Amino acid sequence: MKYEKTMSRCKGLPSRPKRTKYSHQFIEHLPDNLDDGVLYISVRYATAAHRCFCGCGREVVTPLHPTKWKLTFDGVTTSLHPSVGSWSLACKSHYWLQDGRIDWADMFTDEQIKAAQSRDLRDQVNYFAPPAIAPVTTAAEKPKKKSVSLVEKLLGWMGVKW
Ligand SMILES: [Zn+2]
Repeated sequence: MKYEKTMSRCKGLPSRPKRTKYSHQFIEHLPDNLDDGVLYISVRYATAAHRCFCGCGREVVTPLHPTKWKLTFDGVTTSLHPSVGSWSLACKSHYWLQDGRIDWADMFTDEQIKAAQSRDLRDQVNYFAPPAIAPVTTAAEKPKKKSVSLVEKLLGWMGVKW
């Protein structure tokens, strides 16, 4: 998951009704200013981004990748999987984006955040790990191939045995 830097303006926000719906826009490049309530999706750059749906104003970037987020578009609405957990923001928002709906989840505890972070790291390591290497034969097991020098070849062609 993507972890955003903490920004002080997240702190001390008055409580407000939480947004429950979002729209989406397919774009090529992210606009300088993201509108509230919109999930921006760049297929070209395999990235989605939005302003944190809690209203804190922070930009949340969710890379689309097998080890990150998967985007579903059913022709009308979009969904992101897994949930968006902005652990490093002061708001620590955690929600699911499903079919244009924001399903707010419980805030994670510090232990849960650490577990999620190490799971993310493990997923990435496993994804990018080189494929298992087939066992190689050791030098002793390799079939012995007699090395023949050029001189030996020439002597052989000339019928000289030695
Ligand atoms: Zn927020």
